Amino acid sequence: MPLLADVAVPVPLSQAFTYEVPAALAGEVRPGARVLCEFHRRKLLGVVLAVSERSAAIDPSKIKPLAALVDARPALPAELLAFLQELAAYYFAPIGEVLRLALPAIEREQVRALKAQGELDGVLDLGRSKQVGGRKVAYASATDVVEEPGTLRGQAAAVLALLRANGEQPVARIEERFGNARSALKKLAERNLVALDEREPPRDPFFRRAEERDVPPELNAAQAEAAARIDAALAALAPSGGGEHPAIAQQEPRPAGQEPRPAGQEPRPAGQEPRPSAFLLFGVTGSGKTEVYLRAIKSCLDRGRGALVMVPEIALTPQLVARFRARFGDELAVLHSGLSDADRHAMWASLHVGKVRVAIGARSALFAPVPDLGLILVDEEHDGSFKQEEGVRYHARDMALLRAHRAGAVCVLGSATPSIESVALVRRGKLAELRLPDRAHREASLPEVSLVDLRRFRAGPSGDPLISLPLHRALEKTLAAKEQAILFLNRRGFAPSVVCGSCGTLTTCDACSVALTYHRGRRRDARPPSPGGAPAPAAPLDERPEGGRLRCHYCDYAGPLPDRCGACGARNLLLEGLGTERLEATIAGSFPEARVARLDRDVAGKDRSQAILARMREGKIDILVGTQMVTKGHDLPNVTLVGVVNADAALGLPDFRAAERGFQLLVQVAGRAGRRDRPGRVLIQTRNPEHPAIAFAAAHDVPGFLEREIRDREEVGYPPATRLALLRIDAVDESVGRGAAAKLAAHARTCPEGVSRRVEVLGPSAAPIARLRGRYRFRVLLRARDRGPLRGALAALAGLIRDGLDRNARVIIDVDPVAML
Ligand code: ADP
Ligand code: ZN
Repeated sequence: MPLLADVAVPVPLSQAFTYEVPAALAGEVRPGARVLCEFHRRKLLGVVLAVSERSAAIDPSKIKPLAALVDARPALPAELLAFLQELAAYYFAPIGEVLRLALPAIEREQVRALKAQGELDGVLDLGRSKQVGGRKVAYASATDVVEEPGTLRGQAAAVLALLRANGEQPVARIEERFGNARSALKKLAERNLVALDEREPPRDPFFRRAEERDVPPELNAAQAEAAARIDAALAALAPSGGGEHPAIAQQEPRPAGQEPRPAGQEPRPAGQEPRPSAFLLFGVTGSGKTEVYLRAIKSCLDRGRGALVMVPEIALTPQLVARFRARFGDELAVLHSGLSDADRHAMWASLHVGKVRVAIGARSALFAPVPDLGLILVDEEHDGSFKQEEGVRYHARDMALLRAHRAGAVCVLGSATPSIESVALVRRGKLAELRLPDRAHREASLPEVSLVDLRRFRAGPSGDPLISLPLHRALEKTLAAKEQAILFLNRRGFAPSVVCGSCGTLTTCDACSVALTYHRGRRRDARPPSPGGAPAPAAPLDERPEGGRLRCHYCDYAGPLPDRCGACGARNLLLEGLGTERLEATIAGSFPEARVARLDRDVAGKDRSQAILARMREGKIDILVGTQMVTKGHDLPNVTLVGVVNADAALGLPDFRAAERGFQLLVQVAGRAGRRDRPGRVLIQTRNPEHPAIAFAAAHDVPGFLEREIRDREEVGYPPATRLALLRIDAVDESVGRGAAAKLAAHARTCPEGVSRRVEVLGPSAAPIARLRGRYRFRVLLRARDRGPLRGALAALAGLIRDGLDRNARVIIDVDPVAML
């Protein structure tokens, strides 16, 4: 019987394809390895899912042999491969695309080997795979040798002068400046005037500085209790397999026919206590969760297993990475989007061979090949960035629970504002709760929060109604005490809307049904001319600063500000509302002696956000203005005032999670204040002081809010009381989109689960953002009490979508949707 391999190829189809394993490769083709295989007359890079000896269901003469083996050692360890297959099934996502999330780049060595086998002669599509490795960078530097005067001329003399003035330079950079750089360098090297050196390109910025090892602090009682319980769970894990491929030995096979479920959702006989191997670490801001993570990792490593840490946005957490490095040194792979392909591959490879056993990174670190996985930590588990909103729409927190469960590892979700989903899992006994009720620094206490009712207070001296008198006074006090303040505003840009003062028409994007934001951009003089009388809330156009642009925050549109209204033609466009750019300018104008800086997506390039946070930490900024980016877990000891400029901005969105998200933002940003000995103060400005999200945040009552929100969700039938799947349909032609949505909704209503009403079908309807990037958007929402029927209905719909609904309509299945807009 021939040896057959099931291979997933990078095409948007959910099934795998069968190939014959050539006799020469019989012992070498293993699950998780990449292979080259012919697919519709192209050669594709596929991944072996399974190898078996069986008679094929298809005519054996139609089965093609594998063309070549790419990985001698499987790129995906068995544990990861099994997990990825479950993830694909859970999200109804094509297996080829899911695998791509986890596959490393191809090493140039491998490409060379394939070339030598003659495999790369035909048509080849490496499936967008990147190639890395084997690349050295050449550097040139001047030596101490001195030339005979007058013996050097032309470019050789110029290159030598450059190297002497500026020190070592990459050869590539010299070549950019001098046409004859190569021959000049050769001449200089022959005369020993210049030394040439080849080496690997510089390392990741996170590793540029050596981090001094820290001394672990003594844990407080609550931390010690949490650490002990995690340690006990780690101790209870099945012993690690050992050997070179421990993950393979340790993998527990899944019973056939059992459909994949995220961890914590298995039906369990009533009364049976679950083994506590998944935890929710619920600790107030500044309670020392990180120290608990560090102890958990230590305990995991001591037991010979690897650990994975996931954080929302690694660029915003240099401090956290520094603390991990201080404890674990270079035994840490830091995975982030700023890595070069070569660095990313180096990190991947060091994990894959087991040289490094701890990985830290954002969402995509979920797929890191951590050896012998024993622990997954998800910091700030409530954070929305764990949900991928394009391509494979997975939720990294949910999938962390699944991966840990399948790998027989411990999972810890940590937050000061746990997600409603996680709290529900605690209530159902699927997660064990660990609490850190107090701030870790003995002198630190939670900040005092006051609400500023914007309906009652008028504008302060700045003239802007959103900088109320109480906020102005609080800023003055903070500056006088030489302390720092953070002002949080959820809107980027200068003015969030541009409105015609004559007819009231809002300027919107041509491609999207959303308002355009006015961005002033960089100006030579950053401050408005008059310190006292800053810009009025709606500045008429003739006051508008030079060089501004209108930008759409949803597509890439950016264009000039028109000089008249597109609807009525009046030259009376007004810049309305307050964005972070204008807030920064207004604050700088009102407090000319203060050093004001801004942190939002417009200023935060790759390293910029780290630089701004570093300046803040060093006390070189007095007032930091910014969006969500300022709310993330920064530990800034001298921040004593946090101002929430407009708490209402996030609460009004047409999304059942709006209150939860608003609440989390408020508590998180408030948590930046008073983290050390100096007491902190928080001012929340609002027109809705009674809104539960605001009232509970002001009272630091997280459990109270969660309790109420879970009850509300139960009443309206939204998760976690129910499960959702969102079908997102879009098309250039409105009627095509509408038609496809209607067809899907009808199909959902007539499939068995729809007929029995075990799955409720809502819609079709236009999406809240009805048009985006020129495409009309519709949706159909499926809702069910239980996951089984929902999956049944989705399977029926997936069939309809696969068989071609309408080629001009795009349909995406979003399981457990987060973004509802
Ligand atoms: P969280 O992640 O819960 O917001 P952090 O881990 O950032 O809190 O801790 C807040 C501060 O308390 C940090 O400066 C940290 O170094 C300090 N800290 C944590 N645990 C202890 C402890 N047991 N003793 C003293 N200081 C601690
Ligand atoms: Zn747009």
